[in-house]
Amino acid sequence: MTDKTPVQSLTDSPVSSHQFGNYHFFLKRDDLLHPDFSGNKARKFMALLTGSFSHINKLIGHGSPQANSLYSLAALTYMKGWQLDYYVDHVPDFIRQYPTGNYKAALALGARIISTNNAEYDFISPEDYIRDKLEPEHDCLIVPEGGRSELAKEGVTALANELLQWIAENQIVSPVIALPSGTGTTALYLHQVMENHHIPVVTCACVGGSDYLLQQFQSLKAQSYPKILELPKKHHFGKLYKENYQIWLQLYRQTGIEFDLLYDPLMWRCLLQETAAYSTMNLIYIHQGGIRGNESMLPRYQRKYPGV
Ligand SMILES: *Cc1c(COP(=O)(O)O)cnc(C)c1O
Repeated sequence: MTDKTPVQSLTDSPVSSHQFGNYHFFLKRDDLLHPDFSGNKARKFMALLTGSFSHINKLIGHGSPQANSLYSLAALTYMKGWQLDYYVDHVPDFIRQYPTGNYKAALALGARIISTNNAEYDFISPEDYIRDKLEPEHDCLIVPEGGRSELAKEGVTALANELLQWIAENQIVSPVIALPSGTGTTALYLHQVMENHHIPVVTCACVGGSDYLLQQFQSLKAQSYPKILELPKKHHFGKLYKENYQIWLQLYRQTGIEFDLLYDPLMWRCLLQETAAYSTMNLIYIHQGGIRGNESMLPRYQRKYPGV
């Protein structure tokens, strides 16, 4: 790909159909949008891909060195011919020594990954560094962590419109849309389109619990929210739960589809708990990508639960 050539919008991911437990469900394959730029991060950053930003040469982001958004931002900047400076607290030694997953893929696309929790940067957090110390040039654009912003609305609304068109064309009766949440940005913007069509959106809080997720919805100035499903016990983000690994394996065996290991297992556990409510509806599940992150998560699960 060459610098500064306009890149077309990536849309119209396919929909496949599957059986899992009592669920017959449809799967919106946003994981197939593009080999490097896919899933909900691609939707959330799509406005940067398609918009005109001719004065921009560099993106500045921050987050975890394993995050899906790191890889997506690296792919985006590669396609645009921009530099990516991505600030992290620190990179654990084992990742530095044996790069895998999102970290490795982002480096291969030319991302600069900069740790701030060290003497050179006075041991401050990436957020503090970007807010207080960095002096961005006029050709720099700062992206909030995980794409939590108005910026995401355009791409997620495009996803919502694709779904509405597919639902109409296929005459799907009583649809319900399910997707797990981190910041909740994707679920909320989907809900804002779907509520006008009386189509429910259900989600679950993978990061920080339902209270945190509600706060996120409120900070995006929402009047109504997606329905939040939850398990009886609190769930900690990134922790290696045997139940998560088991359901991920079952999904793979029954559907032949690789789901994400961080978010999808919780959504499916919640859905299986609510079979009575949703299995009689036409469930449309959004595959939000994140497969590259499995490269680092799966070996950890395999080591921890060798017999599963
Ligand atoms: C980022 C991400 C999410 C969470 O998206 P939010 O918009 O922050 O709720 C869910 N699934 C995958 C695979 C992701 O990469």
